[in-house]
Amino acid sequence: MALNLTPLNLTDHDDKRPVVIAGPCSAETEEQVMNTATQLSKKGIKLFRAGIWKPRTKPGGFEGVGEEGLPWLNRVQKELGMKVCTEVATHAHVEACLKAGVDLLWIGARTVANPFAMQEIADTLKGVDIPVLVKNPVNPDLELWIGGLERINQAGITRLGVIHRGFSTYEKKLYRNLPMWHIPIELRRRCPGLPIFGDPSHIGGKRELIAPLAQQAMDLGFEGLIVESHCNPDAAWSDASQQVTPDVLDFILDKLVIRKITETTESLNALRGQIDEIDNSLIELLAKRMRISREIGEYKRQHDMTVVQTSRYTEILDKRGAQGVLCGMSSDFIKDVFESIHEESVRQQIDVMNK
Ligand code: PEP
Ligand code: MN
Repeated sequence: MALNLTPLNLTDHDDKRPVVIAGPCSAETEEQVMNTATQLSKKGIKLFRAGIWKPRTKPGGFEGVGEEGLPWLNRVQKELGMKVCTEVATHAHVEACLKAGVDLLWIGARTVANPFAMQEIADTLKGVDIPVLVKNPVNPDLELWIGGLERINQAGITRLGVIHRGFSTYEKKLYRNLPMWHIPIELRRRCPGLPIFGDPSHIGGKRELIAPLAQQAMDLGFEGLIVESHCNPDAAWSDASQQVTPDVLDFILDKLVIRKITETTESLNALRGQIDEIDNSLIELLAKRMRISREIGEYKRQHDMTVVQTSRYTEILDKRGAQGVLCGMSSDFIKDVFESIHEESVRQQIDVMNK
C-alpha cells in the first residue's frame, strides 16, 4: 500500500547541513533542558529532542521525568523559538503531548515492534495534524516497520518520516545496534519520498562513532539526523556514553560532507554500504574463530600437546582452497587468506599456553 505523504516542513535550512534534531536522551531537570537547549540554539539547531518517558530494559532504571517535563519543553519553545519533540509510546503520552503543544512526535524502536501499541497511538492521532517520525523496530523486520508506518498514515498523519537507529543483536560488538544499511535502503525503494533521519547515537552507542555514522547516513542521501546532545554528557541519567556536548555536535556537523546525490552515486553508495556490512561480519566471524582457537590452546595446554599440528594445517589449506575455487575465487588467494588466519590463530594459542 502506497503511503500518502506530505512534506514534514520542520524548519527551513540551508543545503550545507541536513535537518538536525538534537538534544539529550532524557529530559532530567529543567536546568539541564534549558542549558542544553540554549547551547544548541546558539549553534543554529532549531529542533530540540528530549525523552520524557524512557522505555528501560529493566525496572529500577531512570524511566523519565514524565509529564512534569512537558512545561520545560514549552520553555524551550517560548524562550528559544525551537521546535520540540519527544517519544510517545501510549495513548496517554500522545494526549499529554498534544495538550502541551509538542511540535513533533517520534515513536521508539521497542514500541514500533508492537502492533497493538502502534494501533493505539494511531487511533489517538486520528484527525490530528502533527509530524511523526517512526523509528525502525528493534528487530530487523522491514515489513513490521512499514506496517507501523501504514497504521499511522491510515490515521491521517501524512507528515511522516522515519528514524534509522539500527537493530539489536544478542552479542554486542562494535555497534550498539547493527546498522544493516540495506534495510533503510530497501525502505527508500519501497516508500519513495519518505524522509529518513539517521540516528548515529543509538546505532553506535559511543561518541566516537557519531561522526562516521552520520557521514554514512549523508552518503546514502538521508534527509536528516537525530543526535543525542547533553550539556554534561558524562553525567547524563541515560545513554551517557553516546551523548556529546553541543560544541562537539557542532564540530561534527561542520565536518560532514554533503554530496549531491545522483542516481548513480546513490547506488554506488548502497553497494559500498553492503561491502562495509560484509566486512564487519567478516571481522566478527574472525574474532569468533580466534576465541575458539584460544579455547583449543587452553585444551592443548592442559593436555601437554604442541600448538601446531601440521597434518591439520595442511588439511585446512587444501579444503579451503578447493572450496574457494568452487565459489569462484582462486585457490592461491584463499590459501593466502587462510595462511594469515592460521598465523594469527597460532599466535592466539601460544598466548594462551604461555599464560
Ligand atoms: C531514544 O531516542 O532515546 C530512544 C529510546 O531510542 P530507541 O527507541 O531508538 O532505543
Ligand atoms: Mn537514548
